[in-house]
Amino acid sequence: MRNWGLTQPCLFCGEPVETRDHLYFACPYTYTVWIEVVGNLFGDAPDPDWETTLERITARATNLLSAILLRLAFQVAIYYIWIERNNRRHNHTTKPASQLCREIDKTIRNRIFSTKYYESQKLYCIMQCSPPGVRLSIDYFRLYCY
Ligand SMILES: [Zn+2]
Repeated sequence: MRNWGLTQPCLFCGEPVETRDHLYFACPYTYTVWIEVVGNLFGDAPDPDWETTLERITARATNLLSAILLRLAFQVAIYYIWIERNNRRHNHTTKPASQLCREIDKTIRNRIFSTKYYESQKLYCIMQCSPPGVRLSIDYFRLYCY
């Protein structure tokens, strides 16, 4: 749309020009969601910059399970943020960040349960040790599974 001279403000925070980089995750709303969803899977606070996020997600992981969780969290967060953005634009409905985080968390858990990842003893521990509503975290590996 920008190529046609049209701009769209951010439907989450009102930033005058909505861009991919703003939506993922420079926007205060989406960054709040991202922080909550990703927990400490990066080992420290996630960076709001898109390119940095991609670099960190695609970097060679030292821990395979945390890399799986991180990529899954990333994919689900991208999807839900886009759906929420479109709902705000076309249906004029809004969800607070906390509700979006719960939906993302539930989807991640359901996805793990529905795949062979669940057969991994360590991922099984995550599901057992991390009750719904508690952020997925590699700490659960360290606290309960090692
Ligand atoms: Zn925004």
